[in-house]
Amino acid sequence: MGQEHRHRKDEAQSLSSPQKAIGTNSARGVPIVFRNVTKRFGSFTALDGFSMAIEEGEFLTILGESGSGKSTILNALAGFIPIDDGEISINGKAVHTLPPEQRGVGMVFQNYSLFPHMDVADNVAFPLRMRGVPKQEARKRGEEALGIVRLSGLGHRFPRELSGGQQQRVAVARAISFHPRVLLMDEPLGALDLKLREALQFEIKQIQRSLGCTVVYVTHDQREAMAMSDRIMVLRSGRIEQLGSSADLYDRPRTKFVADFIGQTNIVPAVRSGRQVVLDHLGLTITPPAIPEGVAPLFLNLRPEKLMAKRADGQEVEFPAQVQETVFLGDMISVSAVTPSGISIYFRQPRQAGFSLNPGDAIWLSFDPSDAVLVVDGSP
Ligand code: ADP
Ligand code: MG
Repeated sequence: MGQEHRHRKDEAQSLSSPQKAIGTNSARGVPIVFRNVTKRFGSFTALDGFSMAIEEGEFLTILGESGSGKSTILNALAGFIPIDDGEISINGKAVHTLPPEQRGVGMVFQNYSLFPHMDVADNVAFPLRMRGVPKQEARKRGEEALGIVRLSGLGHRFPRELSGGQQQRVAVARAISFHPRVLLMDEPLGALDLKLREALQFEIKQIQRSLGCTVVYVTHDQREAMAMSDRIMVLRSGRIEQLGSSADLYDRPRTKFVADFIGQTNIVPAVRSGRQVVLDHLGLTITPPAIPEGVAPLFLNLRPEKLMAKRADGQEVEFPAQVQETVFLGDMISVSAVTPSGISIYFRQPRQAGFSLNPGDAIWLSFDPSDAVLVVDGSP
């Protein structure tokens, strides 16, 4: 494996794109910078002075709801749509005025976008042919790319003769056949079922590791984002809501929007009182580790796994609730409960907790105030 890996890397180096639009000879990933990029569609401004920096070789995921501007960012980077203002650079070189094929960027689309009248080999060789690689050579390199996505020998098939997962692998092979230093993927697994999606998530990570390219990945699926990324950029209406590692976003969300979007959670209104916060809905006043500055409304973000259910009152930081519904998860039971004030609280309980919970049960829920993360409702 180690040797095969090295061999492939050497090959990648020796075969690096004949049309060296972007800088160096290295097969490593390259940094990407957006500086004050504005993109309008008619009177609608999709990106308004948008700036971000992606590190070389990084796997960065843009996570956002439909319409938040994810595809606009990728298409602007790939060169499929012109920008109205600002600068986009790849490896320190401004690229926003270059045509797509001179940016050294491979792209995979959600709907595969394979050419139906070409066989798989020609599909994969297409970007190479566009870059002036002779036919024989292009087919040879295409076959290598098919090997990387584990589709060796299927070059003679047509896209309609492949399953959805295989078609998407062909699309990945086509995007990497010319050894781009940047690989863009726009919801590439969106059309596939869960099992296949999870298998391909691993494969995409492996491909990135073997090619060493910078990946910008787009999804609206927060689980997928957390599973794959070095960093996640949460996008909201064309603006960065928060940028950080999966653990940063899960453990230290800054806004209600991010807390809500990443993983399951409980959001409870909170009111500042000096160094404490008052949680009216829970009948509690606690001292959290930190309280955000400013006047934006505050909320307690309390992850379900931070709550412990008990039968009776006892500790300091506890509040009463009534069990509504329980859901069997295998190792855990997921429980929804409601407070006397009427808000829903979710928590999980190990199956071996010593007692079972049933709808209607009166319980007490406790948590450690040092796990209390306060978030704001508003822009960061
Ligand atoms: P996402 O990929 O996050 O779903 P998009 O980047 O496709 O979002 O779109 C961002 C916003 O820009 C949306 O409000 C969308 O309606 C608008 N938009 C995108 N492309 C066009 C276009 N060609 N013409 C008009 N509006 C567009
Ligand atoms: Mg999109």
